[in-house]
Amino acid sequence: MKFSQYPTNVPKLETIQTELGALIDLFAQAKTAKEAVEAVKKVQAYSDELGTDVTIINIRFSLDTNDKKISDANDYLDTIYPYISQLSNRFNKLLVESPFRAELEKVFGDYLFKMMETALKCFDDSIMELLASEAKLQTEYNRLISGAKIKFRGGIYNLSQMGKFTQDKDRATRKEAYKATTKFFAKNDEKLGQIYGDLVAIRDQMAKKLGFKNFVELGYLKLGRLDYTAADVKGYRDQIYREVVPFVNRLYKQIAKRAGISNPKIYDLNQSFADGNPTPKGDREYLVKQATKMYDEMSPETSEFFHFMVENELLDLDARAGKRGGGYMTYMPRYKAPFIFANFNGTQGDVDVLTHEVGHAFQGFQSRNISVPEYRMPTLESCEIHSMSMEFFAWPWMHLFFDQDKKYHLSHLEGAIKFLPYGVSVDEFQEWVYENPNVTHEERCAKWREIEKKYLPIRKYTGLNYLEKGTYWLRQGHIFTSPFYYIDYTLAQVLAFQFATEMFKNREKAWKKYVKLCKLGGRYPFVELLDHANLRNPFIEGNVKKVIVPLKKKLKELNEEFA
Ligand code: ZN
Repeated sequence: MKFSQYPTNVPKLETIQTELGALIDLFAQAKTAKEAVEAVKKVQAYSDELGTDVTIINIRFSLDTNDKKISDANDYLDTIYPYISQLSNRFNKLLVESPFRAELEKVFGDYLFKMMETALKCFDDSIMELLASEAKLQTEYNRLISGAKIKFRGGIYNLSQMGKFTQDKDRATRKEAYKATTKFFAKNDEKLGQIYGDLVAIRDQMAKKLGFKNFVELGYLKLGRLDYTAADVKGYRDQIYREVVPFVNRLYKQIAKRAGISNPKIYDLNQSFADGNPTPKGDREYLVKQATKMYDEMSPETSEFFHFMVENELLDLDARAGKRGGGYMTYMPRYKAPFIFANFNGTQGDVDVLTHEVGHAFQGFQSRNISVPEYRMPTLESCEIHSMSMEFFAWPWMHLFFDQDKKYHLSHLEGAIKFLPYGVSVDEFQEWVYENPNVTHEERCAKWREIEKKYLPIRKYTGLNYLEKGTYWLRQGHIFTSPFYYIDYTLAQVLAFQFATEMFKNREKAWKKYVKLCKLGGRYPFVELLDHANLRNPFIEGNVKKVIVPLKKKLKELNEEFA
């Protein structure tokens, strides 16, 4: 069945309360372990169905935020989420307190029960209104950002479409494009500052109502971080500061020299070569054709999977007016189908989608037969390992997408390393924000600029006074809609580097290890999953250095081509 044929069913709250409520009652009344197991399976099947309907609406809304009918359906979902949480909260409570818990753990695994106990700590009826307000504000942010209409050289573009100009090889174009997008944020500064201030206040109130000191611990638990804490992450950020920041500073200088830029400004930092960054050889249709060839050659598993995606219209890749920005992968259990959303803009990023998001989707597909829904996908930092590693496994096929694949290899690896200091900045900022929930928008901006100077001293905003005030973070959507999530990309990057280094040595061995990881799905929390997959834990002091050192050698090797 093709995506366009999937029905759009708007779930009605009353129906859910009746139907799901009845299944939960069935579990509550179970007289034997066998009955209890059967009831749990029924609840899981129901939540797969409901989850599929919700996901289809979320996808269709992101594809066209101007469609009134789907937008209303999406708004309606925002209002009913808290009631659905209330129902699942009731079920979770019954589950962890079940007289048959020991037997249930044997069937479903004890990790499920740990997840439920965590979910219980994160919810109480008293925060329902706050949850609804939070969802509303997040939608408001997304709407404001995706509705951006930026005037540039006679055309009107959204933020994703502007990416092409901010990465243009002509410096004047980049500068002008940067000014144009910055103008949008400056114009909406008050509104954005207000939305974020409200979000922080709401999250802080929720945390306090649930008995936490502030939102930090709650934010971690909401992300299912069961085997590491904010203190571990702080230690990890310190490792990045010591081992990566000085190296990245040298790297930026080296790249600027290669690109023929003296005294680089913010709009120069994504330029890797004097004659421009590698750009894909063709449009969406061409790139998908090349990706099909690549995945056919890569392995039998990737071949089967990618044909499934293309034939069932599970990729929506072109940027369009009204379409939400960014990219994501999601999964619809009823159809055992992943879905990939992206905004192609003619840059190298388009190929990254065909490797990164496809990596996510590949894992979803590999885990499609895991029966416990909660075990199909791991926590988010683990999910990014699948995608970021696939970017490296795709290296040998980059000539299908770029005239100069060597250029791609070099700028991809440099880009991945350069990303780490930015990623930890976003995290350090958020930790400070939630530890100091009562500060003003201006104070938040000043703190951002201070953190930026610590991790990204290369960033200069000469001529862009608005950004000099410390406002770059306003364009980082995760800060608004997915608190504490961003560090996950950096953790996963450190893991993907391990796959890359192993791949350079022995591709077949590395690939087997990767497929094994994908098939493990979400059976374990992050640190435990790394143990099962035989990967280095980035929280252990010294491990970041161990991962970075072999890459320095690889970069030197790649650079020699361009000396
Ligand atoms: Zn991703």
